[in-house]
Amino acid sequence: MSRIFLAKAYKKRAISRQRKDHAMKLARCVITSNDVVVYEDLRIKNMVKNHCLAKSINDAGWYQFRVWLEYFGRIFGRITIPVSPAYTSQECSGCGVIVKKSLSTRTHVCQCGCVLDRDHNAGINILNSGLGKAGQALTSVLDTGNASGESTSILVGANLLG
Ligand SMILES: [Zn+2]
Repeated sequence: MSRIFLAKAYKKRAISRQRKDHAMKLARCVITSNDVVVYEDLRIKNMVKNHCLAKSINDAGWYQFRVWLEYFGRIFGRITIPVSPAYTSQECSGCGVIVKKSLSTRTHVCQCGCVLDRDHNAGINILNSGLGKAGQALTSVLDTGNASGESTSILVGANLLG
């Protein structure tokens, strides 16, 4: 094994460690400063197969970040809710109409007058979807009058789908 190869391997490992550390700190910060955290339930494996998306997803350490989010959610008793990523970018958060856009279209512009940054629009949709889910879970707890035991433990500090 040449020295250059070894040096590169060490550098790669150091960067990977920094990235893990960053994902952990960021996840802890997000969890401790919010009561509810909603995020897209992305199929990482499928997305990494898509070469256009693979690099940015791997770079972002999204998977590690999500694992830490759910871990700290349990530790700090915060609600973490993964939601389906379907149409989160395409749907108008103002009126619900589907506004098709390519990956490079950064602004959401709808005929209803709603103009938002693409990610901001998606963020609203993701949050609404997650809160709808949390509401349904709460309603079923209230309907059955079962405010203790299993149903509540699903809500606090747990993954609602899990
Ligand atoms: Zn609209």
